[in-house]
Amino acid sequence: MTISTDFHEVQATGQSAAVKRGDYSHYRIVPARYPARTVGTIFALLVIAATVHSVLGNPRWGWDVFAEWFFAEPVLVGLGRTLLLTALGALFGFILGTGLALARVSRSPLLVGVSWTYIWIFRSIPLIVLLLILNNLGYLYETITVGVPYTGINFFSWNTTQLITPFAAAVLGLTLNQAAFASEIIRGGILSVDQGQLEAASALGLPRHRQASRIVLPQAMRSILPTAFNDIIGLAKGTSQVYILALPELFYTIQIIYRRNLEVIPLLMVATVWYLVILTVLSIVQHYIERHYARGALRNPPPSIFAALYRTIVPARTAASVTADEPVIRTPAKTTISGPKSSPLHTRGGEVTIHGVSKSFGQLKVLDDVSLRIPVGSVTTILGQSGSGKSTLLRTINHLERVDDGFIAIDGELIGYRQDGETLYELKEKDILKRRVEVGMVFQNFNLFPHLTALENLVEAPITVRGISREQAEAEARDLLARVGLAEKAHAYPRQLSGGQQQRVAIARALALKPKVLLFDEPTSALDPELVGEVLDVIKELARSGATLVIVTHEIGFAREVSDQVVFMEQGRILETGTPDKVFSRPDHPRTAAFLAKVL
Ligand code: ADP
Ligand code: MG
Repeated sequence: MTISTDFHEVQATGQSAAVKRGDYSHYRIVPARYPARTVGTIFALLVIAATVHSVLGNPRWGWDVFAEWFFAEPVLVGLGRTLLLTALGALFGFILGTGLALARVSRSPLLVGVSWTYIWIFRSIPLIVLLLILNNLGYLYETITVGVPYTGINFFSWNTTQLITPFAAAVLGLTLNQAAFASEIIRGGILSVDQGQLEAASALGLPRHRQASRIVLPQAMRSILPTAFNDIIGLAKGTSQVYILALPELFYTIQIIYRRNLEVIPLLMVATVWYLVILTVLSIVQHYIERHYARGALRNPPPSIFAALYRTIVPARTAASVTADEPVIRTPAKTTISGPKSSPLHTRGGEVTIHGVSKSFGQLKVLDDVSLRIPVGSVTTILGQSGSGKSTLLRTINHLERVDDGFIAIDGELIGYRQDGETLYELKEKDILKRRVEVGMVFQNFNLFPHLTALENLVEAPITVRGISREQAEAEARDLLARVGLAEKAHAYPRQLSGGQQQRVAIARALALKPKVLLFDEPTSALDPELVGEVLDVIKELARSGATLVIVTHEIGFAREVSDQVVFMEQGRILETGTPDKVFSRPDHPRTAAFLAKVL
């Protein structure tokens, strides 16, 4: 009886499984068993029980004295002072430290030198020595005066001993000391940010300060935070060193009390438990700040502490957990570019003239007297072997690379210079960045900003550089995303997108500035073959919309289809220029023929 029922059930399940393939909801998930883990857990519980018993059972720990003093007023006042010193030291230390770190990575040798010297000195001096020196500053300088030097004009004057109270000396000492360490932590974070991110930000014409605050520092935060919090926790405990100034912070207060009542251990326990509380709070704050800056860094962000706790207490038993591990089935992407022909890309000219450009890296001549005219609204593809100077040529067009000799002009305006009659004034970095807006660049490795969503990647430069409102920028960005077939991905982070989708976002990002000229440096080389098509489709659509495009590519079929002009480069020289028909079918130069024979 039972057997037959079971049999029927099995049959029924078998059928339904056959009907709904890929639906795992009827499976029950049984967690794996780990005997070693169970033994370990029991052992750990025993150790914890023994420790708790010994701590609570031994009267010499003096828990009654502990309870009496834990919330006593002097202890709380001392605690407050410790917290205040930590907060001020950390705040001022990290502000000064950020300045020092930016100075240290700046291009000014003087700033680098000053920053280096500061760090050298203040990392060398022990904190206690520094505190004592500051506390005795009144002996060195009786008054502190603000005025114009050597003129006798004074605006303010203070008595040093009144100005530098022990508390002020403590804050000052902790800040100066903290800044030296903080700046190295921040510099480490800055160095950890990928170079491509800076280039992408430069290519969008973002001003330097905006590059630092919006692109570099937020990404640097990921590696800054763990060490910074380590440092702040060290600072919280390190504040105990200000006892040397007879400043009653937590530890000093505790010492005063136990010297009087001789209950050393219970009072040390009071201090210990308060430090534990401080550390716990800081750890929770750290967790949330890290989570904030981890946006976009992971495909699947970790749950919050509370969600994680809830998960461990109430384990998920539903099929929901299965779906996460299901293989993602990629339906072949068919990029449809919808919308009317009046595209968001308004071409406003964009003739590029390259005249006698040369460029060397050390001994290596990478560009050798290159001249080329790229007419308005044309599509030029550049071919050539790896190392022939294609990328360098592209990068000179938007001045990511300075030329040694020759000129490049867009619509008659020279790049990198301001022309006044016959005189050319070299532009400052700031002004070069402004002009960059005219030239968009799409990189082989996409170089999207990983901590910003697709939409945020698109609106960043239009808001900062073109100065349009956020609403307008977002409306335009949504238009552009729709144009590259990614309307529904506006809020996805780059790492949540496929390579082809990322590159389409990157193209949309370049278009958001409405550039006159768009440069593509091997836009499909980093893509899986099945994703190449969707990106090329977008570029073809752009070509039809009348933008001036310069494309370095190895996709010969694509080049033949879209190009008005094909350029073949070798060893920094242009060997041959012509229509695709001419260059691909009847190349003038034997080297071109040899190259094509290899790639076709
Ligand atoms: P392509 O894009 O055609 O493959 P590139 O323009 O990237 O070639 O590079 C041309 C040559 O210049 C290569 O030999 C490369 O090693 C060299 N090169 C490129 N950038 C630098 C640089 N910053 N410093 C030194 N050499 C470089
Ligand atoms: Mg290259």
